[in-house]
Amino acid sequence: MNKFKLQTLSGMHDILPDDQKYYQRVQKAIDSVVKYYGFEKIETPILEMAEVFYKGTGVTTDVVGKEMYSFKTKGGDIVALRPEFTPSIARSYIENGMHNLPQPVKLYAVGPCFRYERPQAGRYRQFEQLDLEVLGDSNPSIDGQIIQMSYDILKDLGFKNASIQVNSIGDSECRPYFKKILTSYLKSKKSSLCSDCQRRLKENPLRVLDCKEEKCQVVKAGAPQIVDHLCEACHAHFKQVLEFLDELELPYELNPYLVRGLDYYTKTVFEIIDKDENGISLGSLFGGGRYDGLVKILGGRDTPACGVACGIDRIVSIIRSKDVKTAKVEEPEIFMAQLGQMAKRKSLKLFEEFRKAKIPMAESFSKDSLRAQLRSANKMGAKWVLIFGQKEALENFVTVRDMKTGTQQEIALDKVVEEMKKKLAKK
Ligand code: AMP
Repeated sequence: MNKFKLQTLSGMHDILPDDQKYYQRVQKAIDSVVKYYGFEKIETPILEMAEVFYKGTGVTTDVVGKEMYSFKTKGGDIVALRPEFTPSIARSYIENGMHNLPQPVKLYAVGPCFRYERPQAGRYRQFEQLDLEVLGDSNPSIDGQIIQMSYDILKDLGFKNASIQVNSIGDSECRPYFKKILTSYLKSKKSSLCSDCQRRLKENPLRVLDCKEEKCQVVKAGAPQIVDHLCEACHAHFKQVLEFLDELELPYELNPYLVRGLDYYTKTVFEIIDKDENGISLGSLFGGGRYDGLVKILGGRDTPACGVACGIDRIVSIIRSKDVKTAKVEEPEIFMAQLGQMAKRKSLKLFEEFRKAKIPMAESFSKDSLRAQLRSANKMGAKWVLIFGQKEALENFVTVRDMKTGTQQEIALDKVVEEMKKKLAKK
């Protein structure tokens, strides 16, 4: 016998009906913030030319170098499942001539991203991201606004210990110089670095600052800090971002080790992490920053931009464990019960009439016993049950049972929609 079991791929998961209320709760928090700040929704294809990410996210990053799902199509194109949104949105900005629109262009997107990472708690191979992007504005107030929006969403969802970590990683003016200083420091400590960092030292020395390995912590502690080596423009920009954060009274911490894993960032980078009561990090919920060079790298004009991405599944798993209040699903107050073949047939039509009148109604057409149907109505908390049996179907009336008092009333079939409307209006 074939023992092969069909199941989800490792690192992927179904979002079941029971999970939906949590996702809807997060979506509600997102909707209210994006609407208020004037962001418009964009949807880009899940599948893109792999080049968009090779050039955009960068081939030396783990996200592209190690984790991207890419393949050759039957037509010979090299394509990739998006590992993140930003390069796709920048590609769309260029392709659709959005630089002709009033600037800045504020966009948001929600959808699945794919990374072939080692699955673990909060780390999936398919995960939902919210992405916010502001293109065409270099002002530090935009960086502040994006951080504020991210924080607002978490606050709305009841996160009390979220901590904002910020840093500046400079730009093409000052970063190459800092990289040199850092590299020469790290080379002198090479034997004390983990094997991954020994490799990173060649490809992307900044990433060593990001390393979580015990071994590298001592080396990191003595490393030069980029904030001390920013050029004048980056220094001024960072100072203003921090002033905005102060003004907004956002609880931020300067984190000189925060470099983020993607190549395109310039100037501000930030993450929002959740902490437990003892201040221990529970992982990153939002990550973002400024990417003033990306649109040009992808073939567009010089366009400053700033954005953030948020892991929705991570947020959902936290709010589920805290049992954050989710919107209660409104249950209909009327339940339709039917008995017998003719009544069942006719009740489908009556059900449709209620739908046209926009009166919510529950039913259980698949159940035949009246008792089972009344039980369902009770469980749902229905106020009235419309009983439609053989006699009712023959004589064209409906028995309306008030579930609270147990009293019953007969109403002509062609009047029942109107009568129920009145009852609903009266209560
Ligand atoms: P990034 O695009 O790497 O900057 O990540 C932005 C946010 O997406 C992170 O803060 C996480 O909340 C979320 N995220 C990133 N990778 C994963 C993953 N593999 N599974 C679930 N969430 C993720």
